Amino acid sequence: MRKPVIAGNWKLNNLIGEAEALVDELRPLVADVDDVDIVVCPPYTSLAAVRSRIEGSNLALGAQNVYHETSGAYTGEVSSRMLVDAGCTYAIIGHSERRQCFGETDAGVNKKIRAALAEGLRVMMCVGETLEEREAGRMEEIVEREVADGLVDMSVEDMADVVIAYEPIWAIGTGRTAAPEQANEAHGFIRDLMSKQFDVECAENAIIQYGGSVKPDNVAELMAQPHVDGALVGGASLVAAGFAEIVRGASNKER
Ligand code: PEP
Repeated sequence: MRKPVIAGNWKLNNLIGEAEALVDELRPLVADVDDVDIVVCPPYTSLAAVRSRIEGSNLALGAQNVYHETSGAYTGEVSSRMLVDAGCTYAIIGHSERRQCFGETDAGVNKKIRAALAEGLRVMMCVGETLEEREAGRMEEIVEREVADGLVDMSVEDMADVVIAYEPIWAIGTGRTAAPEQANEAHGFIRDLMSKQFDVECAENAIIQYGGSVKPDNVAELMAQPHVDGALVGGASLVAAGFAEIVRGASNKER
């Protein structure tokens, strides 16, 4: 049985007061949902405030990035240990915006995942192709490389704490969602990769989220796909009522 994970990636949005207001509004709207893992990922500056507002609730705290070293002379970076200390249980790693704007590589993603797992964080590892790559018929090649290289030297046990987020880059923040069947096909492909790289049981248990312009009105058809186990939500996670609807769209789904 795979428990869906719905995570809100707030990106570079919300001052502390706005972050507090958002979770204060969200918390009661999803309080009765117990069959979905619900994660909010504010910017670092709001982690402490959001942590105190979600205490005792069914909301989990996630970070949008981590650094692979634990401590030392790495100005501007934040380690997994610091994130755990700040109350995080999840971290997004390898988001396409980090790969595209900050030059993150598969090898770097792998280091970050290992560091995060070592500190007990659960990871959402993002993979996905650009529009150019999809149109050139290279989706499988790109995703296969990102999965294989991002998960180098991981064990089956490690994989219990790795969620994979399939996020076609052409669907992120563009309003252009992958057709549910396209998402399902890519997720099925990733599940096959899991079974080759790890084993069949690991593949069967893997949580594979879809990300890319998920909205209240398209979540149901995405979640109806057998290989779609949740969503990583950007823009639509900034509105409490809409994000709550997305969470509800993932509830009551046997997987
Ligand atoms: C994301 O940030 O991972 C994302 C999918 O953004 P959006 O939902 O805005 O497309």
